[in-house]
Amino acid sequence: REQEEKQVAIDKNAYKDVWVYIELTEGKPRNVGLELLGEGRKLADAMNQKLAAVILGDGVEPIAKEAFAAGADKVYLVEGPEYAHYSTDAYTIALVDLIGAYKPSVILLGATNDGRDLGPRIACRVGTGLTADCTGLGIDEATGLVAWTRPAFGGNIMATILCPDHRPQMGTVRPKVFKKPEPDYAKSGEIIRVASKVKPGDIRTKLVEVIKVCTASCNLEEAEIIVSGGRGLCKPENFTLIEDLANVLGGAVGASRAAVDAGWKPALHQVGQTGKTVGPKIYFACGISGAIQHLAGMSSSDIVIAINKDPDAPIFKMADYGIVGDVMEVLPILTEEFKKI
Ligand code: FAD
Repeated sequence: REQEEKQVAIDKNAYKDVWVYIELTEGKPRNVGLELLGEGRKLADAMNQKLAAVILGDGVEPIAKEAFAAGADKVYLVEGPEYAHYSTDAYTIALVDLIGAYKPSVILLGATNDGRDLGPRIACRVGTGLTADCTGLGIDEATGLVAWTRPAFGGNIMATILCPDHRPQMGTVRPKVFKKPEPDYAKSGEIIRVASKVKPGDIRTKLVEVIKVCTASCNLEEAEIIVSGGRGLCKPENFTLIEDLANVLGGAVGASRAAVDAGWKPALHQVGQTGKTVGPKIYFACGISGAIQHLAGMSSSDIVIAINKDPDAPIFKMADYGIVGDVMEVLPILTEEFKKI
């Protein structure tokens, strides 16, 4: 009801432009932000509006160049030490303030840990809705609204969602659903610097220490090669076979939900509908049956190589290459062969 009241008499025509929130990791833009700029460009052109990147951080103005190269017409830049690390409070205050002042029509965020924290919180504060975890974006011809597509009912149907009554239209989009655009560093645009509105006492959490739990082996969203294991590995110790092959190939280690639920790998390795969406050049599915919820997270991989002892396993229907065999025998052979290259 509070949301409805906030938006009672909004003038939808006052809301213009497509915004993309650029998430940073250690001062660098994450790929998902650049992927969304590429797709945001198409939406903005179709809606005859401008494309803007929103960048929050400390000393991050050079990132604006990356945003322009990926297609942004303008960049909203909010800088200050309070934005040096992701903070729910500081980032929410900054974005809510920006939305109130500049009224975007559409906001895209990555469906990452930060985006999933920030998106719903902002949507609630500005009194609009949010379509979470989208896997497709388009324009609804009849209304001209953004058509947000996302899996529903356990991944069994794809739902297309419109936001007719509220503004901005907001959604989080899974990483690797769209390709990163080729950067064009000849492009430039307008930088709009916005002063921070965060006051002392606004930030209720204090960052004490940053502990890295994630090495290259679990950076699945950015990995070019992923070796994933499932229940077919039979026991956790056998995951060393997956790790050995991943190490030799310089790839990341993935896991099916069955392997994660069994406690064989931490959840940050899970690929699929309730895990990460990945899009590597090569994806090895080892002892993974190919359930629809697993495919939802890896079907945009360029090449899929499946190893399964069951020739009728569904994964073979979508794999580019298949090896019918026991993972315990096949994986060591592959690792040894790749070592020779
Ligand atoms: P299984 O389906 O048990 O398959 C094991 C495979 O290993 C079999 O094909 C078998 O032939 C093969 N195998 C066995 N031994 C060997 C051997 N020695 N050598 C070679 N092959 C062997 N799943 C995910 O992965 N990610 C998700 O994000 C996810 N989200 C879900 C969300 C919802 C709402 C629901 C309902 C389910 C979700 N699931 C997800 C679970 C999904 O439905 C499957 O249960 C899961 O993917 C199965 O994992 P698996 O392929 O490892 O195991």
